Amino acid sequence: MSEFDLIRRHFTRATPGALLGVGDDCALLQATPGRVLAVSTDMLVSGTHFFPDADPYGLGHKTLAVNLSDLAAMGAVPRWATLAISLPAADDMWLEQFSAGFFALAARYGVDLVGGDTTRGPLNLCVTIFGEVDAQQALRRSGAQVGDEIWVSGTLGDAALALAHMQGRVRLEDDEFASCAVALHQPQPRVALGLALRGLAGSAIDISDGFLADLGHILDASGVGAEIDFLALPVSDVVRRRFVASYLLSGGDDYELCFTAPVSRHAEVLAIGQEIDLPLSCVGRIVAGHGCFVRDGDGKLIDTEGAGYDHFR
Ligand code: ADP
Ligand code: MG
Repeated sequence: MSEFDLIRRHFTRATPGALLGVGDDCALLQATPGRVLAVSTDMLVSGTHFFPDADPYGLGHKTLAVNLSDLAAMGAVPRWATLAISLPAADDMWLEQFSAGFFALAARYGVDLVGGDTTRGPLNLCVTIFGEVDAQQALRRSGAQVGDEIWVSGTLGDAALALAHMQGRVRLEDDEFASCAVALHQPQPRVALGLALRGLAGSAIDISDGFLADLGHILDASGVGAEIDFLALPVSDVVRRRFVASYLLSGGDDYELCFTAPVSRHAEVLAIGQEIDLPLSCVGRIVAGHGCFVRDGDGKLIDTEGAGYDHFR
């Protein structure tokens, strides 16, 4: 199979939202007048982000999901994506599954794959995603205000627990692993939430490197501190049963949103959660100063030194 056959067979689909998609030197894209582009790139590297023998359908899903998660965190409407892929071999079965996972999620969010690059090499998957947002409404990291409430969607720690099981650091029952593995292999990008939070949340970020690390980015960008109520952090039954604080606070790969909103809008935030059928938990407050203080049920401070994933640490 030639490179061009491979692209035609596996990565060329109708692109109704583009003037020109795969097949020319560039794609041609028309943004909606009055909106700006929100652009983000995320790379998944074999051995770093996934096991070399990972299920290709799940990989196709996750490669796009992590990028959609960035658009969600910005309150942007997904439109287009490009895919740069480096493959050890042109394995038709693998590509069939990978692209099925990728396009199933793309279809769900109206994303057109409009281009990319394909080379031979170690397995490496890199998506650039393009969305649209009103410049004034984009959810930045820098808008948290003292007194705001801090919110988290869904549950934290499931993906990190599943990974710990796969690496032999914990031993889960089969049904426990199955319920956590979904979060690790097929994270659901919180696009509907991000869109609903436009004009309401002061700041937002998606949680990819661990709750504390990512909240830390909001705090740094906004020049504020935070107090977190550890017992308010949302967890699944499995994580609660296997209770390990570090998975909640610093496990990676959650792909939930963390955002801030004024106390006066508490009820509106809860209503959004109802409407999109996604639990939203208020986990703390923005305070003056800097740093993040996590308190347990007795009000005692929990030591959180060194939380969060950093590739170069
Ligand atoms: P060029 O040599 O001009 O960079 P390529 O031969 O790399 O073009 O790619 C041919 C066409 O296929 C281009 O439109 C490119 O965007 C698209 N393409 C290449 N790889 C992929 C891929 N993995 N997914 C989607 N489109 C791709
Ligand atoms: Mg090329």
